[in-house]
Amino acid sequence: PVAAELEALLASDQALEALPAKFGFVLDGGGGRLPLTDLAADVRLAACYRDGRARVALGMAAMDGVAWLGTTDAADAPAKAVQLARLVLQYSPTRRSATLPSTMQTALSAALGLTDSNAIATRVIAPSERCGLIALTDQTCAVGLGAPFGRLDSETLMRLAAVLAAHDVCEIRLSPWRRLYVAARRETAAQCVSDAARLGLIVDDSDPLMRIDACSGVGGCPSTGLATRQHARMLAAAMARTGFKGSLHVSGCAKGCARSAPAELVLAGDGDHYRIIRHGTVKSASCGMFDPARDGTAAGLFRASENVDV
Ligand code: SF4
Repeated sequence: PVAAELEALLASDQALEALPAKFGFVLDGGGGRLPLTDLAADVRLAACYRDGRARVALGMAAMDGVAWLGTTDAADAPAKAVQLARLVLQYSPTRRSATLPSTMQTALSAALGLTDSNAIATRVIAPSERCGLIALTDQTCAVGLGAPFGRLDSETLMRLAAVLAAHDVCEIRLSPWRRLYVAARRETAAQCVSDAARLGLIVDDSDPLMRIDACSGVGGCPSTGLATRQHARMLAAAMARTGFKGSLHVSGCAKGCARSAPAELVLAGDGDHYRIIRHGTVKSASCGMFDPARDGTAAGLFRASENVDV
């Protein structure tokens, strides 16, 4: 109900159309197995308890993380979240929360009529805990299924729906992590995992495909003749073979649509080759060329010694 009302308020308030396109709200039920604490958002709402009462904490992005401004009743939370967005529009030079001066936080909390402005504890879930079986109760599991490159074609989706229906699954949820979550009974959950793996979904967080971003490439974009996703699958096998644990970005051209953050290894399409970039983005200087037609094993491209987080 909080999300539905927030959505309705956002849609009905024309002044909020001035918010930047990437201005985001995150609403987290709090205390769940898959919290949304690692998602960037200008305005955050998180369920919490204060003095035995269910409340909603309201926070916003700040330069050094999240600034929690205080709590409110659930019934008032959507209106206060929208009010906070209006204040961001009014006072932030970039119309984003993170650039509001931190000295304003106390005043914002007062203007919104929030209480308990002391820090709200939040738990961040590691990306390594999101695929496969996640026990919920003695009888139920969530099954996290990753979509390679964040994409499922309609045929795979229909086949997945059919096999899950055969296991009496009647709930599939989307997530922000390129994973679907299936609500399954304990006794059928393992079979859901193996059936989904057969359809090409990722069921293990250590699968190298989870560390690869690849744009649509030839057939999906006129800017390249490179089969980026086919190459990415070939490179995933090389990553497994060489023990490379870093991230890989395969881009059809210098635009880099699939990823803006740096990666340990970047291949940026240039004609029928890729420029090789290490520890950077598509905009960084290249240190060699990779020809997928001539070097199908990607020998030398991956060095396990380069497993460095960026
Ligand atoms: S990075 Fe280049 S080739 Fe890939 S989708 Fe974007 S524009 Fe197209």
